[in-house]
Amino acid sequence: MPDTSFQRTLVTSALPYANGPVHIGHLAGAYLPADMYVRYLRLQGRDVVYVCGSDEYGVAIVMQAMQEKITPQEVVDRYHPLIQDSFKGVGISFDNYSRTTRKVHTDTSQDFFRRLSSEFVLRREEHLYDPEAKVFLADRFVHGDCPACDHDDAYGDQCEKCGASLSPTEIKNPRSTLTDAVPELRPTTHWYLPLGEWQSRLEAYIASHPEWKPNVLGQIGAWFTDGLRDRAITRDVPWGVPVPREAADVAGVESEGKVIYVWFDAPIGYISSTREWAERKGDPERWKLYWQDEGSRLIHFIGKDNIVFHTLMFPAMLMAYGEYVVPDQVPANEFLNIEGSKLSTSRGWAVWLHEYLEEFPPDLLRYVLASTLPESKDSDFNWNDFQTRVNSELADILGNFINRALTFAEREFDGKVPPLSDPSEADEAALAELAAYPEQIGAAYERFRFREAVRLTMNIARLGNKYFNDQAPWISRKTDRFRCANTVHVSLQIAAAMSVLMDPVLPFSAEKLRGMLGFEGVRSSLPDSGDSEGLGWLEAASSPLSAGHVLGRKEILFHKVTDDTIQTQIEKLESSEPAAASPYAEAKPTITYDDFAKMDLRTGRILSAEPIPKSKKLLKLQVDLGDETRQILAGVAEHFAPEEMVGRSVVVVANLAARRMMGLESQGMLLMAEDRDGALTLVASESEPGSVVC
Ligand SMILES: [Zn+2]
Repeated sequence: MPDTSFQRTLVTSALPYANGPVHIGHLAGAYLPADMYVRYLRLQGRDVVYVCGSDEYGVAIVMQAMQEKITPQEVVDRYHPLIQDSFKGVGISFDNYSRTTRKVHTDTSQDFFRRLSSEFVLRREEHLYDPEAKVFLADRFVHGDCPACDHDDAYGDQCEKCGASLSPTEIKNPRSTLTDAVPELRPTTHWYLPLGEWQSRLEAYIASHPEWKPNVLGQIGAWFTDGLRDRAITRDVPWGVPVPREAADVAGVESEGKVIYVWFDAPIGYISSTREWAERKGDPERWKLYWQDEGSRLIHFIGKDNIVFHTLMFPAMLMAYGEYVVPDQVPANEFLNIEGSKLSTSRGWAVWLHEYLEEFPPDLLRYVLASTLPESKDSDFNWNDFQTRVNSELADILGNFINRALTFAEREFDGKVPPLSDPSEADEAALAELAAYPEQIGAAYERFRFREAVRLTMNIARLGNKYFNDQAPWISRKTDRFRCANTVHVSLQIAAAMSVLMDPVLPFSAEKLRGMLGFEGVRSSLPDSGDSEGLGWLEAASSPLSAGHVLGRKEILFHKVTDDTIQTQIEKLESSEPAAASPYAEAKPTITYDDFAKMDLRTGRILSAEPIPKSKKLLKLQVDLGDETRQILAGVAEHFAPEEMVGRSVVVVANLAARRMMGLESQGMLLMAEDRDGALTLVASESEPGSVVC
């Protein structure tokens, strides 16, 4: 039951912020579901354009550039290609992937600003200013003492120690992070979007979409209850889309140094990217059809942290501009945790997409994530589950069925599709069940229920396996050649249907499977295929292979993932928290004596050491600390045999928070020195166990 009330669809995924690589949490939030959806639409032959791009402005990028002593442009020039390659590697099939630092985006954003400026209100206010650098300081560029906990290095927007949200004028003894100068308050003028005036219009708009996901409507409801507040559209920072000069002149404001706030320009990036796409297609006005024609359906795929921007602010901007369609669906996802813990890029608790792709085929991750997407609540990715799903679902169910069907066709029928003659009830029942899948799976995609779509897709392979087992062609091959031929014929039709219907989830394997079947003329799920004539989604399950059709070459569709491989991934993740010291690492920032004195360092003696099953790196140690014995897991197994460790004197960080690895608790850490070649030496003390090291 495709939604036919629209003639075309524009799909967007949240613009990734170009200050780091993308991880699997990003993928599960906004990219994989969108890609599955657009591939499904393309296989249906529907008109869809899918756009995205790197979000390259904002204060965080300026901060990062300062820390690395490079320019903001150099920061985004490093991450944009990495992000784009990762998406390509995992098969995210954008029609266009742009960057917000391109001219088309500056033009589009400034056009919005000019057009909306009569809706904006101007506010004169006082902001902190660095008199040496001669610039206003964004919140993050002010640091000082936290008014809540006295921590002496709180940022202007937040204290990272106690977590308090702050405004830069609350900070005690404020200093500029640029020059260390004492900032002063100076008057400045900013444009605001009076969102409060938009509340009733936005409430009416949201009320017209009762079909949106409950997690999305819930968050919007909370914003309405609080009441929408005016929101600043401009800032005094040196990196962003400049406020258009003529709009500033009209308002009598100096435009120099003022840029458009990233929350305002980022969603406009979807429009810029569509314009870029249209230009690339040689039809520069074509973007308007997708953004300004009532027959177009606009769908934003995002994570839950972006809901307010896509359901309230961006729609308000589009309505204020006029001419534009507004979002018809915003199927936001919740967050993905990793191994039961909240994903954290600063702690390195993440699986980076570019690193994953060096080790595994893209489809395995697509399948596992799609099966566990955080559609209605947070969900968890863990490596053992990854292994189980790959081995016992992809390999044992899907791969195995395909292999059996093709092996029989090869051995018994000369690598050709045998004829179906006088089909049995079982043959007809299997084909009838198969024929219902395109609509069933399609209905799940139409309702943005991707996990359900994956489950139904895999049921096709389950159907195939059951049918094949029940028919037992290894018996009929000797007793009833017609029956054996029918079984193989029907099984191959199931495999052919699978090769199309699994394409949104497993596009690389689907293509491989079509090659194995010699199945050509299928509509592509990629952009610009220009082949809407091919066999599509709805026809896939109507026995597309004719008797006598010559099959292709058989391959293994999915290789199993070994225990060792999984263990390596788990250890990699665990060794990243806290950040592992690399040899001859860069010097760390200076700390005060008080910081140092927080560490409780003690002499210990190793009483016993034993290997941990399945871990290449860790040894389990019992360490005598004088008045107690601690269990400590140390990553030394590749450097020392357990018996070499017993009796050694060591220095232990005794007050390090306990943490679990490999299902065991580690209550402290040994100090070690690592030389240039990565060889480890234990830091020893001659004192008796329990002696304080200071
Ligand atoms: Zn604090």
